[in-house]
Amino acid sequence: MAVLEAVRDNQGSRNLEIESDLCYTINTLMKNLRNLEDTGYIGKANRELIQITVAKIREKEEEIPRELKLTGAKLSKLTQSLAYKAIREVTLKKGKHQRERSKRMINVIQNHVEEVLGEIPTEERIWRSIRNKDISQQARYYLWMTAHDTYCIGTHWPKPNYKEELQQRSECTHCHGAIEDMSHILSRCETPGQEEIWDLARNLWMKTGRTWTQPWIRNIIACALTKVSEDKKERDPGGNWLWRILISESVYLIWKLRCERVIQNGNTPFSIQEVSNRWLTMINTRLELDCDMTNESLGKRKLKMKVVLKTWKGALREESRLPKNWIKTGGVLVGIGPRHHQEEG
Ligand SMILES: [Zn+2]
Repeated sequence: MAVLEAVRDNQGSRNLEIESDLCYTINTLMKNLRNLEDTGYIGKANRELIQITVAKIREKEEEIPRELKLTGAKLSKLTQSLAYKAIREVTLKKGKHQRERSKRMINVIQNHVEEVLGEIPTEERIWRSIRNKDISQQARYYLWMTAHDTYCIGTHWPKPNYKEELQQRSECTHCHGAIEDMSHILSRCETPGQEEIWDLARNLWMKTGRTWTQPWIRNIIACALTKVSEDKKERDPGGNWLWRILISESVYLIWKLRCERVIQNGNTPFSIQEVSNRWLTMINTRLELDCDMTNESLGKRKLKMKVVLKTWKGALREESRLPKNWIKTGGVLVGIGPRHHQEEG
């Protein structure tokens, strides 16, 4: 708390020397920080305070390191045992309040799935669906954290022992007066981001000739549970695969852009063009990765060509000109170009 105060009180100064004889503070901010960030602060006491302090210190730096990740673990570093520790942290350490939050979110998802599939999924089935192999590691982690309602946003902030400045963190820094919970970030926030990304996802989806359902938090988390074909007899595995990828990757990008904006970019909004470009890069990278994953050398981890062809069918650029098996063609892109917006001003 004292370090945070010192950094805050000296916002203008370039150099700030902090003396402390407290090993805990020194080790946390100097020695162990990289490791803490890599592992998403799982199991760390005073996590929120440390994160704010680090963010404040970094605000002073001219060049913010790319690996700055104040939210979420770097998945490569998230070992199984750490993941379990995180589960325990959320369900046990955080106490009754957090358990109630998780429970509420699970209920919302269960009700939603019941509505569309006619059956209530068990909690275990929801967790399993989030670990679906079609969903990338980072997106899995994001969905998992969101399903637990455990990201430190919105109504997590106003705690009675926090100062007023911290209390205000519950509000969206872009939309005045709006509580910045996950629903706000994913579906309502007016800063360039969510709306543009869902538009692009819808565009691509509708290009494949399927009906679009607007993603809300409940069908986003359940994206690997729901079936895209309304006709139960007519299965559409390709559609289910593409839906999972499209929704999970898009939602993760929305979250990533939000964190970059709020934590790294001093709340400067992204331009619509930037958002578009980021989404296109993301989806094309995923397409490329899927193609690479068909490589024989991957053995058991290999993706079947049939699966990749079926997943992306109808979604590619100039698809009619591509060979039947385009996987080895290289340079295949998804079928929507960047949106061209009228120049402002
Ligand atoms: Zn907002």
